[in-house]
Order: sequence, then structure tokens, then C-alpha cells
Amino acid sequence: VDVVVIGAGAVGLSCALELSRAGAQVTVLETAPALALGCSSGNAGLVCPSHAAPLASLASLRLGLRSIPSREGPLAIAPRLELLPWLVRFTAASMPARERAATETMRALAQTSHQLHGLYSEQLGTGLTPRGTLDVYETEAGLERGAAHAPPPVEVLTAKEARAIEPALAEGIAGAIFHPGELSGDPAEFVHAVGAAVREAGVDVRLETEALRLDVAGGRIAAVETTHERLEPGTVVLAAGAWNRGLARTAGLFVPVEGGKGYHIDYEPSDADPRIPVFVSESRIAVSRLPGRLRLTGVLALHGLDLSVDERRVAAVERVGAQRIAGLRNRRRLEVWRGLRPCSPDGLPIIGSPEACANLVVATGHGMLGFSLAPVTGRLVAQLVSGSEPQLDVAALHPDRFRPLIRRARSSTHSRAR
Ligand SMILES: Cc1cc2nc3c(=O)[nH]c(=O)nc-3n(C[C@H](O)[C@H](O)[C@H](O)COP(=O)(O)OP(=O)(O)OC[C@H]3O[C@@H](n4cnc5c(N)ncnc54)[C@H](O)[C@@H]3O)c2cc1C
Repeated sequence: VDVVVIGAGAVGLSCALELSRAGAQVTVLETAPALALGCSSGNAGLVCPSHAAPLASLASLRLGLRSIPSREGPLAIAPRLELLPWLVRFTAASMPARERAATETMRALAQTSHQLHGLYSEQLGTGLTPRGTLDVYETEAGLERGAAHAPPPVEVLTAKEARAIEPALAEGIAGAIFHPGELSGDPAEFVHAVGAAVREAGVDVRLETEALRLDVAGGRIAAVETTHERLEPGTVVLAAGAWNRGLARTAGLFVPVEGGKGYHIDYEPSDADPRIPVFVSESRIAVSRLPGRLRLTGVLALHGLDLSVDERRVAAVERVGAQRIAGLRNRRRLEVWRGLRPCSPDGLPIIGSPEACANLVVATGHGMLGFSLAPVTGRLVAQLVSGSEPQLDVAALHPDRFRPLIRRARSSTHSRAR
């Protein structure tokens, strides 16, 4: 099989790796002039099955309503007509029964991906290590809620116990939940290591090559028009993150991913920085120690593909970091960065072939968990392309779940008639 993968983020590169291991001839197209410039390399670097819940939930709705008017909260929404249908779907998916089902799906994906990340780390030197993760709670009520929702085994710690395992935590927290064994590392190192491995495996990684359009003929992608040439591969994998929506539209397909802008602020390191990655749960901020820097990450702003920096949101992230991590106040900043998470309206990834395009596989929509879920996505895409049974049930991830109901009904009447 010859496959073109569009996008060289964590998801696209994992697809390329798994596809080439399955024997495919793979070409990767990437707009940027180098690997590790996008969302996949600026994230917090946590691979955490304990956080495997869909973004669409009553808790997110409540948080959104609380934080929008403040202009400083962790969730931001710019009112846009185009976002409205996405928000309607998001609200419907946030109802408890759907959230429960989606959480189960996410956990199965995250656990398999965690194992694959472990293998990648050994085989490719991605640098991820099992330091565990520490969810810190600022209030007793938050700690209780966290303990009730955390997947077993749950290790609830008092503030004193939490500081005993992570002395960098400042005073004033209610407690924490420790998830031993969870992996974390430098996401840029991951992208470089997987990038090197795919090149070594013979994958043709074409930088500064943007896919402009997908041409459809006879229910298939006939060609990918790029800034350099026209390619006519057997199969196309759409892994262009938050930009997938526009590309899919060129083929008449509906892939409703919204950009969920997040920030990182990197600081000069200190010996006293946290050894265990910390997630400040109520404020939704992660703190990770990376080689040569300490990274704070936070905010999810549904502002489309806009990449402008909102200093107020950055300052709010810095404030929480300085409150919860000892010795961070007045530390020299190295970098402020932002990236776009590809967010699906129901919080589940979108993985599979649309009925209308047999030789296209969509691989996107991972939202807050795309780094964690990249390897399992690559594995599932390779299984779908090679026609073997996917190792996990992918029915809930199918891209056609977002097709307008009228078109879905028409297409099932047609197939019955046939
Ligand atoms: C602040 C922050 C913290 C996060 N922390 C975590 C975390 O700790 N753990 C976790 O699991 N996830 C985390 N995430 C989420 C995670 O980073 C994303 O879900 C993931 O990186 C998405 O990967 P991707 O490969 O789908 O997209 P991307 O990384 O965006 O890659 C898509 C690539 O496609 C390229 N592209 C776009 N259009 C085209 C085109 N037309 N032609 C060719 N190439 C194109 C882009 O240049 C880009 O390189 C975080 C995200 C943010 C913003």
C-alpha cells in the first residue's frame, strides 16, 4: 500500500511509524520547515490514563460558564456563528450517560497507548519515564470529587503527604492524588525520536510541503494537491490537527475539529523544581520539569485557528503556578508559546474512514490528550489501512457520527435500496 500522511505532529508521525512497520510505503507531508514546531512538541508531555475523560462533560460546561466572563479562567470562548453547531453537539455529548460511555472508550485507548508509549521509549529513545503524576487539589470539595472520579487504584494524599513526595508544592493545598507509573517527558524529544525512526524506516518526510486540496473522484481521494506537486496515493491519512476541518472540506467531508488554543510558559530551571509532574486540578494547569526548563501549561480557548497571545490568560496561568509551586515567583521566563489542540465536539478522537471516501482515514480530534493517544491512534490507523481487525472497538470514533442526520438517513435508505 502507498500512503500519504498529512501532518507530522505526534499523531501523523505515529501513524507513519505504525504504517511503515505494517509494510506500507509512506510519505508524510508537513507545512512547517522542521519537525517539532507545533502543538505536539509544546505540550505538557504527560501520558496520563488517569486524565482519560472526554472534554465534553457537565464539569466542563460548569467551568466554561464560570470562566468565560472573567477573561482569566481556564476556558475561553469567542462567540462565532461557526462555533454554534459545535457547542450544541458538545452540550449534548456532556450529558452524564454519554460522558460515562465516552470515558470508558477514552480509558481503553489511553491504557493501550500508555503501553505503546512505554515500548516506544525503550525502542526509539523518546525519553519518557514513569515518574507518575500528581493531581493537586486546592479545595477539600475538589479533592473529594477528584477521588470519586479517579480510576482505581486511587492514592489520596493529605497536603503533608503530598509535600513529602513532592517538596516543591507550596503551602495552601487541600491534598493530592498520586498516579504512580504514569509516563512523562519532553514532547519535542518524542517528536524528534519518532521522526528519526520513521526516516530510518524509509518514510519520505517532506517538510515545507502543504497539502492544499483533496480531489475526490468515484468515492475515493484521487489526488492530494500540494504546494509542490500532485500526489496520487492509494490511501490518505488526515492527521493535520486543528487544520483538518478545512482540508476535509475540500473533499466535501465534515470533520468538525475546533482549535483549542493552549499556552505554555517555560522558565529557567531550578534544582528544587518538581520531580513529579503536577496537575493543579481546579485551575487546570500542569507543571512539568523538562530538560533545561520548567514548563507551565494551561488554558483552552475556542478561538478557531487564531494564534494571538492573550496576555491576561498567560498571566493567570503564571499566577496559579507561582501560588502552587515554591520558588516560581519572579523566575525568569524563557518562552511563551501557544498551540492549537484539535478538539472534537464530543471529546472523543475521530478515527476511521468516512463512508463517502473509502481510501481516506481520518486521525484527529484528540483535544487535551493527543500526545497520550498518538501511539494507539497510529496502531489503529495501520490496522484499518491494512484491513485487519482493529485491536480496540473503534465504532464510537467513526468520522460519520457527525454527518448531518438528514444525509445519514438518506445514505442508509440508499444502501437499503441497493
Ligand atoms: C498547552 C497544551 C498542553 C497539552 N498537554 C498535553 C499533555 O500533557 N498530554 C497530552 O496527551 N496532550 C496534551 N496536549 C494536547 C496535544 O498536544 C494535542 O492533542 C496533540 O499534539 C495533537 O497532535 P496532532 O498530531 O493531531 O496535531 P499537531 O501537533 O497540531 O500536528 C499537526 C501537524 O499538521 C501540520 N499541518 C497542518 N495543515 C497541514 C497541511 N495542509 N499540509 C501539511 N501539514 C499540515 C501542522 O503544521 C502540524 O505540524 C496539550 C496541548 C496544549 C496546547
